[in-house]
Amino acid sequence: MHVGIFADIEGSFGIWRMRQCRMGTREWQYGRACLTEDVNSVIQGAYDGGADTITVKDTHEIGFNCLIDRLDPRARYRGGHFITPSFYGDIHDLDLILYVAIHAASGTEGAFFPHTHYGVFSEVRLNNKPVCEMDIYGAYLGEFGIPIGFVSGEDIAVQQALQALPWAESVIVDKRKEAYTSGEKSHHYLAEGRERLRQAAAESVRNASRMKPLVLPGPLHFEAVFRDAQLAKRYNTWSFKQSGSTVEWDAGNMIEGFEMLNKLTFFPRKIYPFRRPLAFCMRSYFRIKNTWFAPRPDPGEAVR
Ligand SMILES: [Zn+2]
Repeated sequence: MHVGIFADIEGSFGIWRMRQCRMGTREWQYGRACLTEDVNSVIQGAYDGGADTITVKDTHEIGFNCLIDRLDPRARYRGGHFITPSFYGDIHDLDLILYVAIHAASGTEGAFFPHTHYGVFSEVRLNNKPVCEMDIYGAYLGEFGIPIGFVSGEDIAVQQALQALPWAESVIVDKRKEAYTSGEKSHHYLAEGRERLRQAAAESVRNASRMKPLVLPGPLHFEAVFRDAQLAKRYNTWSFKQSGSTVEWDAGNMIEGFEMLNKLTFFPRKIYPFRRPLAFCMRSYFRIKNTWFAPRPDPGEAVR
């Protein structure tokens, strides 16, 4: 069985501040170490549950958040985003996906760093219902026939994800500062939390046959609400239907609808023809930058 471990970062154990997720900051060096340990626990769990091959897909911002030299060397590693054959690259032979360190949807009150797909949206709706990333990514991957069978992240993020993926195993992660700055107690919480990651990942892989690809029957109506009307105007280079800060479009299925979301978010009309070489350059640049030219960790950060 080939298991994909897809990683965001916001929902990692050890992370309690936004800057720990912001690529390029000193605090992010600490956040990367946290994420890498979470991913390693999930890798171990996936092997325990019966995976033969594991590919880690690093997806936060432009990718390359994990510390590659600390990652379990048994897993393959792929960072960044792709255009073809899918947004996640070549995924055709994945049997199951475990999604690590997720966050809540845009507009979720009191949540840690809530957003859906990109920070410019205050809400994304699908057929009139607000959605989180697991609704969108889950249904996108579902159309490739791949189920998501595990999520980890803060309580509300996991609750939202499980509404879309009720079969998934899950681990809830504390986002309060005191969980990670209380010395011995924090060490204990981190160790216990990562053990839960391992166990839930193993359970998911063991029960892979119960996990379902999420397929939303079309047609799908998308509404992306930008933080303000000006932002919507700036991003809407494709002349999608727009009223105020809301941009909307229809699609026959999620693969098509997600392509349009990416056009709106990352590929303005002028850039669209060059998106393949551009994505390649971005992956290469950030692989080198984040591997060899990262800032030193902030010594003031919490214990690992
Ligand atoms: Zn992220």
